[in-house]
Amino acid sequence: MHDWLAERVRTSPEATALVEAEDGAEWSYAELDSAVEETAARLAALGLEPGDHLGVLMETRVAFVRLVHAAMRLGAVLVPLNARLARPELARQAETADLNLLVCERETESEAVAISEVPVASVDAPQREGEDAVAALRQRDSAGFDPASWSRADPQAMLFTSGTTGDPKAVSLSMGNFLASATASAFRLGVTPDDSWLLCLSMYHMGGLSVVLRSALYGTTVVLQEGFDAEDAADAMAEFGVTGVSLVPTMLRRMLDARDSLANSLRFVLLGGAPASEELLSRCEARGVPVHPTFGMTETASQIATARPREAFEHRGTVGRPMLWTDLTVVGEDCNPLPAGETGELVVSGPTVMRGYYGDPAATAEAFGEYGFHTGDVGYRDDAGRVWVLNRREDRIITGGENVHPGEVVEALREHPDVRDAAVVGLDDDEWGERVAALVVPEDGADLTGETVEDFCDDRLAGYKRPRTVAFAHELPRTASGTVEREAVRERLRRERDA
Ligand code: ATP
Ligand code: MG
Repeated sequence: MHDWLAERVRTSPEATALVEAEDGAEWSYAELDSAVEETAARLAALGLEPGDHLGVLMETRVAFVRLVHAAMRLGAVLVPLNARLARPELARQAETADLNLLVCERETESEAVAISEVPVASVDAPQREGEDAVAALRQRDSAGFDPASWSRADPQAMLFTSGTTGDPKAVSLSMGNFLASATASAFRLGVTPDDSWLLCLSMYHMGGLSVVLRSALYGTTVVLQEGFDAEDAADAMAEFGVTGVSLVPTMLRRMLDARDSLANSLRFVLLGGAPASEELLSRCEARGVPVHPTFGMTETASQIATARPREAFEHRGTVGRPMLWTDLTVVGEDCNPLPAGETGELVVSGPTVMRGYYGDPAATAEAFGEYGFHTGDVGYRDDAGRVWVLNRREDRIITGGENVHPGEVVEALREHPDVRDAAVVGLDDDEWGERVAALVVPEDGADLTGETVEDFCDDRLAGYKRPRTVAFAHELPRTASGTVEREAVRERLRRERDA
């Protein structure tokens, strides 16, 4: 069970494993398997052994897919590194990950050589690696890979988190984690033998890597697009009859801007990484896009909860119910479970939850509690068991000793018919520690004032949760990935307060 591609070749060698969107080149499972055999042989010749950490520094391309399967075949731990990080960050990750070998491509070769203290091999140049370093790798005593000693709880890959709340953390995942995730996802989305999944995400994040792993397990097709481009992605979906795609909200928004409709063949759009806005959901509904809003993270090998389209349109903002085998508990400050409707930290347990943070037992211990892994995200479950994600725990506001979750206040503000969007942050306050403040985006032509907004909140929120400072903007400041830039919001609101 350690080599999903080998299993697949036994059962459906002629099925299409891979299509390159750029030129339509196709790889059957048998062809991909031979290519992976070559890659594995080269890695073994370089001295890579079972249990070794294989770093990969490149963007999404066929060579990367080959490395993913070759690592499985050799029993090595795959460590994809984010090729877009700055050199010092990359160097830190390479060190944290205890690499044995680093594979790069032409574009990342100088970075790879600069950050790595271990042999570097390029998929674009057969002779990149230093001979002495390789000789040293080869000299180790090796017993070779022994499938009998392999366990599905063994480390299989190490992925770094995105680094939103601090330095990226090295997440150690097992084959068991990926298997549970792929299976549970199949039960939520369905699988048919003719499925093909467009891969346009980076493979060093969970969303991209999952597409490659799952497709091999299912025996379905990956349509691979190198480098995301909204128009090309939309066109590739139509041209190759794509049935599924994984996207973050910004990418989907750009695709809907670029094209009037998406491929008719599309069965699911797995949309995660950040909240799907009302506006984006409305556009999906109007154009018949089968959107599946998803809450997931690196530590849980992707999906924790996924909503189906009807649910997503009828209950805007929900990420649906937890996946099969995943238990989700909402806990309060005292770490005890809260009833439906009450807001607290989302805690998950189940077979997709990581082994731990690599080389950091303290961080691992801190992340796990009685009910499982503490996601650091805040939300609630409604009476029907649907999950709602509001904000990150670290974004909470503490005012006069009371916790306020910005997402709750945003939800209340959005109930106002003239409010299109809002962001809520805490501003320092001498008396209360922090005070709630809101930056509001009014609907076009609406006549909103700070007072009307505050009055509206009076009926809906406890006193300490009501915004004490309100400012207006045409849109919220956002990062490239579409998340609200909280510091910029805070800055704008400080100016309003001090005006
Ligand atoms: P770090 O852990 O280093 O701070 P990160 O949490 O951004 O970075 P990822 O594992 O890539 O790293 O992202 C997972 C996070 O993304 C979740 O914990 C959650 O905060 C956010 N997220 C994912 N899906 C959604 C969603 N549908 N709605 C709101 N937030 C989401
Ligand atoms: Mg995180």
